[in-house]
Amino acid sequence: MSEVKLVDAPDGIEGAGFFATRFDKVIGLARSHSLWPLPFATSCCGIEFMATMGSHYDFARFGSERPSFSPRQADLLMVMGTIAKKMGPVLRQVYLQMAEPRWVIAVGACASSGGIFDTYSVLQGIDEVIPVDVYVPGCPPRPEAIIDGFNRIQDLVKNEPLRRRNQPQYQELLAQYGIQ
Ligand code: SF4
Repeated sequence: MSEVKLVDAPDGIEGAGFFATRFDKVIGLARSHSLWPLPFATSCCGIEFMATMGSHYDFARFGSERPSFSPRQADLLMVMGTIAKKMGPVLRQVYLQMAEPRWVIAVGACASSGGIFDTYSVLQGIDEVIPVDVYVPGCPPRPEAIIDGFNRIQDLVKNEPLRRRNQPQYQELLAQYGIQ
C-alpha cells in the first residue's frame, strides 16, 4: 500500500482533495530535508567536502547548508579523512555528545577502512569506535559520491520509524559499542 494517498474532496468542497499519510512519514520527510551536518575532517577528503558545500554542487539544496561545529546542534556526523588511533576517543566523544536521532557517514576510504594507511597508528575504519550508517567509497570520493551518500542518509531518515531508537535492535547495536 502506498504511504501517501490522494483522497478526493468530499462533495460540496472545492479543490482536488487532500493527501493522507502517516505521522512518522511527515516527520521523516521534514527531518530528511533539515539535517545539520557536523564535518569531522582531518585531511584530504575534507577538501572534497568543501567543494561539495560550494555553489557548483550546492549542498544547500538538500536543506543542509548549515554545517554545525557543535555536536549538540548536529544530527549528521560526516567523518572525512585519516583517523589516527589517538583521535578515536575524540571522535567517539563527539558522537556521544550528539543527541538522538543521529546518523553517521564515513566519507572516503580512510574513514571507511583506513584506506592506504594500513599501519599501526591508524584506525582501520571508524566503525571500530562508532556505528556507521553509510560508507562512501573513494580516495577521495568526488562531490557527486558524497552527495549520493547523503541522499542515502536522507532515505534512511525518511523511512525510519519514530520508535526505532527505543527498539531492542538499536539498543543492541549501541551496546556492541559500549554505549548505553
Ligand atoms: S581516502 Fe584518500 S583522499 Fe580521503 S583522506 Fe584518505 S588518503 Fe586522503
